[in-house]
Amino acid sequence: MTPDIPDIMARADATIAATYKRFPIALVKGENCTLTDAAGKTYTDFLAGIAVCNLGHCHPKVTAAVTEQAGTLLHVSNLYYTLPQTELAGWLTEHSFADRVFFCNSGAEANEAAIKLARLHGHGRGIDAPEIIVADNAFHGRTLGALAATGNVKAQTGFGPLPAGFRRVPYGAIEAVEAAATAQTAAVFVEPIQGEGGINVPPDGYLSALRECCDRHGWLLMLDEVQSGVGRTGEWFAYQHEALRPDVVTLAKALANGVPIGACLAGGSARDVLGPGSHGTTFGGNPLAARAALAVLDTLGKDGLLQRAAQLGQRIRDGLGRGLDGHPGVVDIRGKGLMIGVEMHEPCTDLVRHALDAGLLVNVTAGRVIRLLPPLVLSDAEADEIVDRLLPLIHALAPSGDAARATSA
Ligand SMILES: *Cc1c(COP(=O)(O)O)cnc(C)c1O
Repeated sequence: MTPDIPDIMARADATIAATYKRFPIALVKGENCTLTDAAGKTYTDFLAGIAVCNLGHCHPKVTAAVTEQAGTLLHVSNLYYTLPQTELAGWLTEHSFADRVFFCNSGAEANEAAIKLARLHGHGRGIDAPEIIVADNAFHGRTLGALAATGNVKAQTGFGPLPAGFRRVPYGAIEAVEAAATAQTAAVFVEPIQGEGGINVPPDGYLSALRECCDRHGWLLMLDEVQSGVGRTGEWFAYQHEALRPDVVTLAKALANGVPIGACLAGGSARDVLGPGSHGTTFGGNPLAARAALAVLDTLGKDGLLQRAAQLGQRIRDGLGRGLDGHPGVVDIRGKGLMIGVEMHEPCTDLVRHALDAGLLVNVTAGRVIRLLPPLVLSDAEADEIVDRLLPLIHALAPSGDAARATSA
């Protein structure tokens, strides 16, 4: 019998913690860039589970790897060596700045590892209360340490006291980082492109300038690539658009295309900071998640999907630019690769509901930035479809330019 959406919703709302404001559909199946709900309606997915399903849904390579691993060895704890975790660490260290990888299960957890690493590094340099410089509008996750690093008062409200030791600066401004420095500073921690904060792309050279600043002071440069990493921006890691080596990079979302995994990569002076007994987690890097990640990385590389992400992102941004040229409600169209934002003058969260009705999954973040994070396996035709189907929704949404300007002034 086909499950009934109102019934699923009623049971879920009665029993699941009310932390999420969900849209009124229940999804039952995914294939490539298409999802199907319990009533049989299909949706084109421009969000990929929030930058998770870079290979689309149920990619055969991932499905095969997970299926095979599930029948071989799911989990044994980190008391023992396993081959998938070893191979995944090998891949990550070969393809990045990193010498060592700590595996965990989510973005917040990867960032907790980074925060603990920064504090150990600080204590190692004789700082008694190490501080980490973080950015306005940053998003680093919902656990207490990651939440304290997050620059979103709404997410923090009600959860004090938050851990101390974070100093906040405007994003993208190197002088602000210099000005925030104290004798307690141990690290700088930012996203290479802010995701939840509104697809905020910093000025060219920002990360290199941060690197130089960190080198001069003996601080760690730590980058949260939970959203930007694993090919989304057209490089394996977004920091690779500039010639620099960070000390710490955190990953999660897309690493295993939907199987929960996180990773905290360390190199340079951060390489050996996490020593025996300093940190740990039961599931981190278990054989199932690690095998899924290996299949993801292998497929992204072999299928040339990083280059595709760069090309498709340009194609989509160009298409949106043409279709929205002169549109007075639009502030900016920006992004890198398939991490795309259309900033509107006015709040536009209603667009998500209209898109849903039209069979499109999109997202609005920071209140008025339409965020597109489609799978990297899109065809050119699907990329054009994104543009063709989104434009009328944006045009329908916006009031006349004068009205938009008048109300935002
Ligand atoms: C999603 C996200 C996180 C949090 O990841 P979870 O897996 O939800 O804990 C952290 N940082 C960034 C940049 C993210 O986009």
